[in-house]
Amino acid sequence: MTDVAELVSRNADFVAEEFLTAPGLTINPTGNMMIVGCVDPRVDPSHVLGLRRGEAAVIRNVGGRITPATLRTMQMLGKVGQAHADGRAEGPWNLVILHHTDCGMLDLAPFDGLLAEYFEVSPDALAAKSVSDPYGSVRVDVDIIRQEVRSSDFLVSGAVYDVSTGTVEVVVPPTAVPVA
Ligand SMILES: [Zn+2]
Repeated sequence: MTDVAELVSRNADFVAEEFLTAPGLTINPTGNMMIVGCVDPRVDPSHVLGLRRGEAAVIRNVGGRITPATLRTMQMLGKVGQAHADGRAEGPWNLVILHHTDCGMLDLAPFDGLLAEYFEVSPDALAAKSVSDPYGSVRVDVDIIRQEVRSSDFLVSGAVYDVSTGTVEVVVPPTAVPVA
């Protein structure tokens, strides 16, 4: 078991080896990147995508899904970003939706009520959420972003991480959203 004292010890190493040797970071991600992924400990985007510190904002929830709560979180982060617009890197904003094989979402399939509440839909609309197929669910969630986000400067993509091989496959390449 990992305890808190262990984490504090690792933090001391981080301060000495990384924090003090790197330049200061801004609140805006240096990569103009946001990633939505699953809470599963095997699929931490910082590790499997090699994110550098400060490079991307990462939202993690069950399944890495674009739910109304995810959209509300993104809306709030957008306001924070606007408040610090002068620190924003050049280029379009990139949102990557990262789902994965063997997701715990499969274990939730029998729990219609919980899932309906999570997605804020009626139980009979759950089939359209593709909870048992990550290749389908990234497409579903990219479509939600394309319905909800209006920007001339925003790309959304969908990828699936295979927990048995460690490989990421891009299912939906970076795609523009409708302009406001
Ligand atoms: Zn998962």
